[in-house]
Amino acid sequence: MVDYLIVGLGLAGISFCEVLERNKKSFKVISDDSQTSSVVAGGLYNPVTLKRFTLAWNAKEQLDLAIPFYSELERKLDIQLDYKIPILRRFASINEQNLWFEASDKPNLGHFVAPKIHSNHNPNIEAPFGYGEVLHTGRIDTAVLLLHYGKYLGDKDLLLRETFDFEALKLRDGFVEYGGFKAKNIVFATGFGIKNNPYFNYLPLNGTKGELLTINAPALKEERVIKSSVFIIPLGKDMYRVGATYKWKDKSNTPTEECKQELLQKLNTFLKCPYEVVDHVAGIRPTVSDRKPLVGRHPEHENMYLLNGLGSRGVMIAPMASMQLYALIENKEAVAPEMDLSRFTKKHFRN
Ligand SMILES: Cc1cc2nc3c(=O)[nH]c(=O)nc-3n(C[C@H](O)[C@H](O)[C@H](O)COP(=O)(O)OP(=O)(O)OC[C@H]3O[C@@H](n4cnc5c(N)ncnc54)[C@H](O)[C@@H]3O)c2cc1C
Repeated sequence: MVDYLIVGLGLAGISFCEVLERNKKSFKVISDDSQTSSVVAGGLYNPVTLKRFTLAWNAKEQLDLAIPFYSELERKLDIQLDYKIPILRRFASINEQNLWFEASDKPNLGHFVAPKIHSNHNPNIEAPFGYGEVLHTGRIDTAVLLLHYGKYLGDKDLLLRETFDFEALKLRDGFVEYGGFKAKNIVFATGFGIKNNPYFNYLPLNGTKGELLTINAPALKEERVIKSSVFIIPLGKDMYRVGATYKWKDKSNTPTEECKQELLQKLNTFLKCPYEVVDHVAGIRPTVSDRKPLVGRHPEHENMYLLNGLGSRGVMIAPMASMQLYALIENKEAVAPEMDLSRFTKKHFRN
């Protein structure tokens, strides 16, 4: 009997495994590669919404937990994950500059919004109105994290690479059985894969497809993230990620020519040097109708839990959501009401 069976090893599953290890709990993980969100993610952590210049939900609390969380993972796996890079918001007008100054004056935002305009000195980027700099930002290399964490668990014989078979799950009194395992609790962390989960697919997780390009641009020589109509994220060695798109109808993980053209068209409005597209990826962000995570216990099954709905901010949210889920299960501490899946449950189970 292990303490936990976890289904899904993206950012959510990894964060929860980490919380378990740090609390000396035993677990097994089952994951396939049907969803790609955590593998393809830009990996940025950024507390400010760059459309409206407001603080993202709970951002300060999330960052305060996330940064030490990833440093501990770096130490444990002996790899670099956290690249601390400034994000520059390219302004499209004088009006945007003014809005930026207003934002920097607000008490909770001031910590993250530098109260000055940076002029553009890169001849390969067109930015006549300059930039505003967001402070305390960076990029987590999520692809490297997934690769190394999978290997770490595999070496300890804690990971089964297979698709979870819901028919094989047996709910017993005080534990669950699956294949040859018994576990005191089961936690589903399957991102958009929730759609195949008969226990939780009533929840309004809609999913938003995103596509990203990788370009090689030897002349660009930019070391900061530039956010305009698309992000340009430096990866080193003249490689840059460009993205992302937001699409609500297509639920496949397949990159499309249409989105590639959309990204290139937006990029070409401000990037003025030659480049070559070397990669193109897609994934479904696990987005919820009210844009908040889905964390908590199944309304009818005592030992069954969900960790999902990380949306477009999984890097920052996953550690906090995992810690809260753990505190719920082990210490009966309530999950923050905004994240608690019971906000959708009452209505559904009343019928
Ligand atoms: C293009 C794009 C760019 C993004 N950029 C950023 C960014 O810059 N910053 C940021 O914070 N976030 C970003 N995100 C969002 C981020 O990727 C997500 O919030 C996060 O990765 C979700 O993690 P997850 O573990 O919940 O889901 P997933 O990453 O989807 O992981 C779920 C795992 O469960 C597995 N699984 C599913 N069903 C089953 C099953 N039945 N049996 C076994 N295994 C199963 C899947 O294969 C997968 O391995 C981006 C997303 C996209 C698509």
